[in-house]
Amino acid sequence: MQTLICRLFLITVMLIAAHATIAAQSAEPIRHTLRFPEAKNHYVHVESVFPTGGAPEIEVFMAVWTPGSYLVREYARNVDRVEAVDGAGHPLPVGKSRKNRWLVKTGGAEAVTLRYPVYCREMTVRTNFVDESFAMLQGAATYLSLVGQNSRPHRVTVELPSRWKRSVSVLPPAPGGGANTYEAADYDTLVDSPIVAGNPDVHEFEVRGKQHLIVNTPASELWDGPKSVAAVRKIVEEYAAMWGQLPYERYVFFNMLVEAGGGLEHKNSTMLMTSALASRSGDAFYGNPNAKPPQGGWLSLVSHEYFHVWNVKRLRPRALGPFDYESENYTESLWVAEGITSYYADLALARAGLIDRGDYLARLSGAITDLEMQPGRLVQSAAESSYDAWIKAYRPDENSPNSGISYYTKGNVMGFLLDARIRQATGGAKSLDDVMRLAYQRYSGAQGYRPEDFRDCAREVAGSAVAAWVEKAEQQITDLDYNEALDHFGLRFRAPAAPAAGNPGRDMPVRGWLGAETKANGASVFVTAVLRGAPAFDAGLSVDDEILAIGDRRIPASLWPRLGEYYHAGETVDLLVARLGQLVKIPVTFREEPRRSWQLEVLPNPANAQRDALDAWLGQR
Ligand SMILES: [Zn+2]
Repeated sequence: MQTLICRLFLITVMLIAAHATIAAQSAEPIRHTLRFPEAKNHYVHVESVFPTGGAPEIEVFMAVWTPGSYLVREYARNVDRVEAVDGAGHPLPVGKSRKNRWLVKTGGAEAVTLRYPVYCREMTVRTNFVDESFAMLQGAATYLSLVGQNSRPHRVTVELPSRWKRSVSVLPPAPGGGANTYEAADYDTLVDSPIVAGNPDVHEFEVRGKQHLIVNTPASELWDGPKSVAAVRKIVEEYAAMWGQLPYERYVFFNMLVEAGGGLEHKNSTMLMTSALASRSGDAFYGNPNAKPPQGGWLSLVSHEYFHVWNVKRLRPRALGPFDYESENYTESLWVAEGITSYYADLALARAGLIDRGDYLARLSGAITDLEMQPGRLVQSAAESSYDAWIKAYRPDENSPNSGISYYTKGNVMGFLLDARIRQATGGAKSLDDVMRLAYQRYSGAQGYRPEDFRDCAREVAGSAVAAWVEKAEQQITDLDYNEALDHFGLRFRAPAAPAAGNPGRDMPVRGWLGAETKANGASVFVTAVLRGAPAFDAGLSVDDEILAIGDRRIPASLWPRLGEYYHAGETVDLLVARLGQLVKIPVTFREEPRRSWQLEVLPNPANAQRDALDAWLGQR
């Protein structure tokens, strides 16, 4: 009996699912038209025609966030006013039902037209920008859609001002739609397909028969198009070889030359921001891991966002699809989705020959240093950091280094340690590449992975001990162990420099250290950060304290960055600070700065097995 009920239930579910699919395929699209009569004032005017199905009322919404950027951004705040008319042009009543939803009385009309100007002047990869020279529009921040009808198709027509030549999107042209008219199969695809319009400089290249576009906007003669094509082609070829396929027909690199930074992944495109000058500087193009702070470079950004084609846009945590566009979507696996992506981003540059081994090891050392110097590593685990992205990673403050870690950084370091463990456990036969491929094969379809599914892939490839390591590493707030990884590849951390004397090479006491970062403003010095466990933290120095004197001596602002030369480890002084309008005296004892080095270097005389492991990992010399 129970079996029969189950079977009947299953058949019913299948019938409903089949019906829903047919309904979605045959559903009339929502038709959006984008116009730019006020481009100079940073507006796109959107007109959207919604089929009503004869309902007396429709409810429409705008997303509050966009996938890939885990913060509620309240895109509806850029919508000035929503007006509605029926087919004959008669106004219809519009009211709000939530911060991001509108209710429209249809008066029985078969379709209603909504018109709404959207203000676009936030130059980031997850927001919109419009001016006289170009438009950059992200789906989540631009279109209204029908509540509960995410499977309905959308059609978008871009009406170009006469001074703009073209629009670019990964969306296919709508059948019979004319120029600049695109069709999105559903709302997810619409959100995932940014549109850039204007006069971009477009470069095309093919890898494995698939078309790739680099779309430089606004066009600039300063940007070296051919050089960027040659380098990006190598990245694409590297990942095609690693994954064994390119899972799309056409891919677009939107490269915004707008003196801003950042990147956002989409299924078949990425939105990148950089400087028009970036291809003219080795550091800005390739990156400089030895700079302070380290510079990632444009190629690292490209490599990271493009790796998302597989990791997160197809192989994804279960919570990240289907998306709830109106509230937070929680996952403990951003360390995989973002951290392992960061691990491969630079590794692929080394494997593709775009950077050398020393450069790669310096980048990895930078990630390890960032993690190990951050007191918050002993407070927040990788899984917790992932889960709380919405309230912590995207909302950093002065105490963030003390209270947490970045899932990008820790995930990158965990990727390295996991890769080493897999190689060691399998005698070099397998690597993290195999785990990623297996996970992709299983969880890139309709169903995403849970943390235990990812661990099971690691178990199948490399055994239970490796899976157990992942489970522990995801949750642990104690320090990671590097010994096994270093031993496998024949690496070591460089010995720390000798204790820094007050005046190097002379007979002076060891430099003092407070562990507080300061900023000079004219003659005044203000505290900007205090590291947990440092003398300043233990003494109770606070962010925003204005430091007036040490004892009864006024210290010139110019000497603060070199304070340790003048005050030595073991000395106790009174700091006089102004805090909330009152003078406060704070006794503090200088200590020696911790000098542990996290800089990786190859052993001077590695064993043959270690040499082979290094070659297998980084590619042949
Ligand atoms: Zn990413």
